Formats: sequence, structure tokens, C-alpha cells
Amino acid sequence: MTMSKTLALTEELIALSSVTPQDNGCQARLIELLEPLGFVCETIASGGVTNLWARRGTTQPLLVFAGHTDVVPTGPLDQWTSPPFEPTQRDGKLYGRGAADMKTSIAAMVVAAEEFVQAHADHKGSIGFLITSDEEGPATDGTVIVCNALKERGEQLDYCVVGEPTSSQMLGDMIKNGRRGSMSGRLVVKGIQGHIAYPQLARNPIHQCAPALAELTAEKWDDGNEYYLPTSFQVSNMHAGTGASNVIPGEVVIDFNFRFCTASTVEGLQQRVHAILDKHGLEYDLKWSISGHPFLTPKGSLSDAIGDAIRSETGVETELSTTGGTSDGRFIARICPQVVEFGPPNGSIHKIDEHIEVRFIDPLKNIYRRTMENLLL
Ligand SMILES: [Zn+2]
Repeated sequence: MTMSKTLALTEELIALSSVTPQDNGCQARLIELLEPLGFVCETIASGGVTNLWARRGTTQPLLVFAGHTDVVPTGPLDQWTSPPFEPTQRDGKLYGRGAADMKTSIAAMVVAAEEFVQAHADHKGSIGFLITSDEEGPATDGTVIVCNALKERGEQLDYCVVGEPTSSQMLGDMIKNGRRGSMSGRLVVKGIQGHIAYPQLARNPIHQCAPALAELTAEKWDDGNEYYLPTSFQVSNMHAGTGASNVIPGEVVIDFNFRFCTASTVEGLQQRVHAILDKHGLEYDLKWSISGHPFLTPKGSLSDAIGDAIRSETGVETELSTTGGTSDGRFIARICPQVVEFGPPNGSIHKIDEHIEVRFIDPLKNIYRRTMENLLL
């Protein structure tokens, strides 16, 4: 029996330990495979991060496969059943850091491109690869840098498949056609510190902020829409007090976060928070930070092409979803009208003993290849 080429490449990539923001030779290996297929490969380095942009063909439509070679740290090595950077098969599963997030996807995309190009050298349009080693870290020198460079030179992307692990139980049962945005606030409500026995000489910021906080937590920010659950507001941290039981504190610090959908805007949410705080007459400082804008690709030719590929390969009827954390899709969506994420089941990602079921590896490659066939033939 010949070993699956995708499995072999996945194992090779897992063995190249590439904890974020390191790439450790993964992209060089991909270039070795892509160049003979006619891809023009370009390394775009930024702030210690390695990025790869590769394109085969000069015409439209341009179908891009995107992903990251970096992985999250292993956690305590002694808790792994086998070493995280020694790919190991046990009970039908391949174990190793990056097995699910997302070295199998990268290997599957590259082998899919090889099969597709060898069978259809004269395919229409172009195929691209956008690979970074800064997805799991701050994500400031990765995909966003490449997207800016592509935009500057007027490179037009038409479709992008991001290989993030989006499946739930079975390969193909879920794809992501959008992600919510994330916006945090640090609110400092000011009072006047004093002796707890002389409250008339002090002003208690905990008491003052309580009604405003009750209102913020009860507020309905939007109803969501066809693709999204309603925007959610959550308090993550709240600090006040000196530790002594006879002191009214001088301030309270509250950290909160919005996971917001396309039914709300950054400006709209900020205005409404300020209006509630102002209504309660609070003296406060509020600093905002936005870690991701929401994006949405409505059902269309790309989600249909992937859904059809999944159905043909596995018989599974896929579900479009916008759940989960932020991803690099948020950067790509600014320069590409259709962005959909699809990859293997995500139950073990970022965990000890991360793995992928071996039986999903070749079908994953086949689904990526069928997606190329659906869009470029
Ligand atoms: Zn990932």
C-alpha cells in the first residue's frame, strides 16, 4: 500500500516545530512543491514573521487558499502521550501539535493543487496560496501585511478558502462564512476614597457604577440577522477596593468585551455604551480596542462550490456557520468578496494530544481539489 502523500506531507510539517511566530522551514518546503507546478512564489517577511504568496496563472478568477504554518505552544510536555513534534499514529489518529490547526489543511491544499494542476494544466483563472506564520500570535505581521501588499499592487482576489479547522464531529459538517467582530473596553469609574464610617465625605464608585452595569448587561444590542446570533456583551474583569474592609475605594476598573455581528457597528455600540454611562452621571474614563471587525460572505458561488465538493466526497450536507473566535478571514475579507473557512474537526485544537483522524486526511484533500474543479474548470 502506498502511503498517502497528504499524510506524509502533514507528518513532515508537524515535525518542523513552528511555535508562533516561527515558520521553521515549513514555507520553504511548500515552495519546493509549488514552484515545479508553475507557481510564482514570493516570501514577504515582516517583523520576524515569514509569509508566502504564491500564484499560478495571471487571469481571473483567482482562487486563493489561505492558512498558517505556526502552531500554539505545546503546554506541559510530560502531559503529551507522544512528543508533540514527533507525528505519531495511534488508533486511527495522527497526533502532533498542528495536526488539526492547521498543518493537515496546508498539506491537503498543496497536494490538491498538485493533483488539480497535473490533471488540468490549462485550467481557467489562477490559484493562489497565502500562508503566514503569524496567525496564532498577535497577527500583526502576517496575513494583514500580505493583504496590504496585494491591495497596493492591485491584485484582485475572487475567492478565498481558509483552511481553519471548522468541522465539528464529521469532516465537512460545518463551514464558516463569517466571523463575529471583537471589541474590548476598559472602563474606569472614579469616586472619592474615604473612611467607610464617613460615607458623606467619600463617593463610592462601586455603588455608582452598579445601576449602569445592570443596564449594560440587560441591554439588547441587536437581534442578529440571518447569519448571526445577536451581539453579546460580557464583563471579563472587575477590580476595586484596597483590601481593607474600612475603606471606600477611589475607583473601580471594569473590563468588558463585545462579540458583535454585522447587525451592529463599532461606532453604534460605542455611542450606546457612552449614553448609558452618561445617563447615570458617572465620572469615568473608557478606552476601546478593536481586535477584529466582523465579516460575512453570504451564501453564493464559493460556499456552493465547497458545499458541493463536501457532498460529493463525503455525502455530508454542510452547515454554514459564523460561530467561534476571530480568524485571519477578517483581513482577507477586506480584499476578497467571498471568503469561506473549511477544515477538519476542531475538537482537539490547542489542546494536549492534538490530533486528526487519519480517515479524514485524504477526503479533506479531495474536497479542496473538487472545490478547484468546481470554480476553475
Ligand atoms: Zn488556526
